Amino acid sequence: MTIFALSSAPGRAAVAVIRVSGPAAGDALKALTARALPPPRQAALRRLVDPADGRMLDDALVLWFAGPRSETGEDMAEFQVHGGRAVVAGVLAALARLPGLRPAEPGEFTRRAVANGRIDLTAAEAIGDLVDADTQRQHEQALAEAGGAAARRYDAWRETLIGLMARLEAAIDFSDEDLPAGLLSGMEEEMSALAAAMRGHLEDDGRAERLRRGLRVVILGAPNVGKSSLLNRLARREAAIVAEEAGTTRDIVEVTLDIAGFAVTLCDTAGLREGAGAIEAEGMRRARLLAQEADLRLVLLDASCWRESLAAAGVLMDSQALVVANKVDLATPSGHGVLAVSCSTGEGIDRLVGEIARRLEAMWQPGPAGPSHARHRAGLEQAVSALQRAAGAGEAALAAEDLRLAATALGRLTGRVDVEDILDAIFSRFCIGK
Ligand code: GDP
Repeated sequence: MTIFALSSAPGRAAVAVIRVSGPAAGDALKALTARALPPPRQAALRRLVDPADGRMLDDALVLWFAGPRSETGEDMAEFQVHGGRAVVAGVLAALARLPGLRPAEPGEFTRRAVANGRIDLTAAEAIGDLVDADTQRQHEQALAEAGGAAARRYDAWRETLIGLMARLEAAIDFSDEDLPAGLLSGMEEEMSALAAAMRGHLEDDGRAERLRRGLRVVILGAPNVGKSSLLNRLARREAAIVAEEAGTTRDIVEVTLDIAGFAVTLCDTAGLREGAGAIEAEGMRRARLLAQEADLRLVLLDASCWRESLAAAGVLMDSQALVVANKVDLATPSGHGVLAVSCSTGEGIDRLVGEIARRLEAMWQPGPAGPSHARHRAGLEQAVSALQRAAGAGEAALAAEDLRLAATALGRLTGRVDVEDILDAIFSRFCIGK
């Protein structure tokens, strides 16, 4: 079946891109242009007409990609039309009436690219990440994986495993007679070394995944110290309610910011104080939970009532927290080494952003990142435990079975083995036309 979809964002735009993939793509291009196919891989200006009634639809740039040298590996046509809603609707309706064509499902173009071996599964996921990337660092990570960085790593491990399996199989064939002396024990070391390499990759504290999803920075502190005001300052818009009365931020307010290329979700939490009402108690419980999971905690104190705010926030003050004194327009903070800001005047806010950026960068300095998706982590963990079992099996036949399991777990990551069962999970988060 040939599929088609609007591949650019819906809504008005200067240009909209409509793609067609499958055996009838060439006929569809010919039908809408009422002409022969243009030379492959070269943009051509063509008048588009509705084949049903000859009505003119647009003057468009069209492209023709003969399979398998196309993104999906199939014949593909691309229409770059004017991005008006009526133009797009007219072209899509004309395509829908052609024989053998139907609208694409979410992620179906990329799915076909995987099915036809144009890209592996990790690259397909990275294409999704690339479209979702909001900041430079997310962009860099997604680009590296779309270029096959994860796949190369997993494939290299899988090849080592397959090499081990081949040697073991040979040993098993021998086993009626004597096993070559020391063969299994020599291989056990290699298995352990491979398991250690994979474990090392997993021990990254979930950095790559957190980078992809965005880092959490939580603002903590007693009521009325200015947490909502700080969030608004940082977000440069009114995202949280700022009020004179204590305890207005009962829920958690989030804004997503770009700080030094990191996607940062900044959360304003309910003020931490004793003896609050039931709703606020729930808010405080959530605030504490959020603080535990945060990548960075900002503890906000009030320079104008230093002692009280320090006493209330004391429980949150760990060595990694960034301590900030607000309202320095009213009083000079007593603490040393605290960042002084005023959410009212904006004083010190740039320095605070600089310090947040420095802390995030410091966290991201050491070591290469691990897996960027939970799916990869789960597969690698399966492979590691199978490999460890193999290394301790003590018998060639048992070790061979565990090596096979480990290789299958790695193969699933890139889609080299039975992938149908996991395809749906991956592609359901794509949008149509991708
Ligand atoms: P929260 O309860 O910690 O979220 O505090 P809010 O952001 O709601 O602020 C509490 C009160 O402090 C409000 O009346 C703010 O206008 C005021 N406020 C916040 N930051 C400053 C500041 O830097 N200087 C002064 N003078 N007042 C501030």
